[in-house]
Amino acid sequence: MTTDYICPKCKAHLLLNDYLILTARKANGTGMLLLMNPEVGNYETVYHPSCKVKDGERFTFSCPVCHNTLVSELNKNLVMVLMKDESGKEYELHFSAIAGQKCTYKIMGNSVSSFGIDAPHCLDVMGLLDLA
Ligand SMILES: [Zn+2]
Repeated sequence: MTTDYICPKCKAHLLLNDYLILTARKANGTGMLLLMNPEVGNYETVYHPSCKVKDGERFTFSCPVCHNTLVSELNKNLVMVLMKDESGKEYELHFSAIAGQKCTYKIMGNSVSSFGIDAPHCLDVMGLLDLA
């Protein structure tokens, strides 16, 4: 594993044992730990079986180390973490905070790459079309 995920607030490393680890909180306040596949465009997640996640439900993501929320500055429905690739380049990775919505944007400067079947739709909905 040569890529790394970093909290934009405290710079803690969030990638352990091949999972990106974040905390997610439902609108009703219920919090949970969420393990995400770190491969961009792969939406596999792991969470405790007692947690019920419904498609369309919006979560507030935060860093498990500093507890700051990781809301994207682009849109409140996106989460942002920093990603460092194998060559040491740093990107902003923005992904949907809504369960079941498959869209991810990898951004460095003016360059935007999008991933996931919902990405074009999300771009439109979120008013990001001018970015792409
Ligand atoms: Zn942090």
